[in-house]
Amino acid sequence: MIPITVPLMGEAEAEAARRVILSGWTTQGPEVEAFEAEFAQAVGAPHACAVSNCTNALHLALMVAGVQAGDEVITASHSFVATANSIRYVGATPVFVDIDPRTFNLDPHQVEQALTVRTRAILCVHQMGLPCDLSALVPIAQRHGLALVEDAACALGSEVMWNGQWERIGRPHGDVACFSFHPRKVISTGDGGMLTTRHPAWDKQFRELRQHAMSVPDTVRHGAREVIFESYPKVGFNYRMTDIQAAVGREQLKRLNGILQRRREIAQRYRKLLPPALQLGLPQEPAGYRSNWQSYCMRLPDEVDQRAFMQGLLDHGVGSRRGIMCSHRESAHTGARRFGDLSHSEQAQDHCVLLPVYPGLSRADQWEVVQAVDRVAAGLGVDTTSFMSSLAQEQLA
Ligand SMILES: *Cc1c(COP(=O)(O)O)cnc(C)c1O
Repeated sequence: MIPITVPLMGEAEAEAARRVILSGWTTQGPEVEAFEAEFAQAVGAPHACAVSNCTNALHLALMVAGVQAGDEVITASHSFVATANSIRYVGATPVFVDIDPRTFNLDPHQVEQALTVRTRAILCVHQMGLPCDLSALVPIAQRHGLALVEDAACALGSEVMWNGQWERIGRPHGDVACFSFHPRKVISTGDGGMLTTRHPAWDKQFRELRQHAMSVPDTVRHGAREVIFESYPKVGFNYRMTDIQAAVGREQLKRLNGILQRRREIAQRYRKLLPPALQLGLPQEPAGYRSNWQSYCMRLPDEVDQRAFMQGLLDHGVGSRRGIMCSHRESAHTGARRFGDLSHSEQAQDHCVLLPVYPGLSRADQWEVVQAVDRVAAGLGVDTTSFMSSLAQEQLA
């Protein structure tokens, strides 16, 4: 069986967790602080604040951006439900805008048309690791005085060309970027999240709010020579990352460049080997945008049944997932506002299939995947003629 993903973890991560467990300090402490510094360095951010997951990171980001009950936040429906949920946590209304079918990311034209006097922020998503159109969204946010929050859950290591140079997502290019360390993402701490921001005052608030808005952190009280009584000036949360997770994250970060290289090789080979008939609508990297290939997405021809295709792959021992969900179709978000008919978002959900991409996917396994895709596609009436010739070519090479 070839699963959709396998996190790359080994002895180094196990040893890091062991070291922390035996140290006597397991919750947010020195390992979290070190992980934050190393993460900030890795993405080129001035500030990084670790939290328990990306969903909570998005909540804090919107809260500190000043989004309140009655406000509207423009976002993509075509995203994991956590994106829309985070808007509801602060009492605001998600305004769903459609995606550009070439990139599967927010269409900036529609974002601008969807603005109202109640719009307070734009929550953009770098979907499946492909950066969204920041060169259009950053100026829109600036022109209208809106916060730009980047859902970068899947986008660690993805890059954009900015002022003539490649920069990693998370500097951030908007006001704040939120990352996830769930096992489906590029590096993992089991669960975990990170906020990077350009605003020192925002970073300070993230740090307070993640720990009950406590006036004096427990680490400080623990090391103090005098008794200190803390206070709680506002309502905060327990969104801490543990030192066990952070120690694992530090080891994962050391593997990041290797992971990115493998993911890009795998994507390139899929690109070369998959039938052109299935590559229609595949998220394309526009000039100046580089994906980390958190997911590899195929677009099935309209007449091919998605479920039958995925079942066929499963019967051949290959795991897959359907296209990214649409939050506007879920009962949890019937109260949200929709801009336009969101047809591209629905098409992407209903006609796409995500294939296995992970650093441990061997060349032989990937070969199995493309062969399974070929057989299933041919069985469902897709024209795979040119596909066979590219397979033959690689075999000859
Ligand atoms: C995974 C994901 C999240 C949620 O991340 P968690 O760390 O699991 O909370 C949010 N947004 C997007 C786009 C995601 O893919």
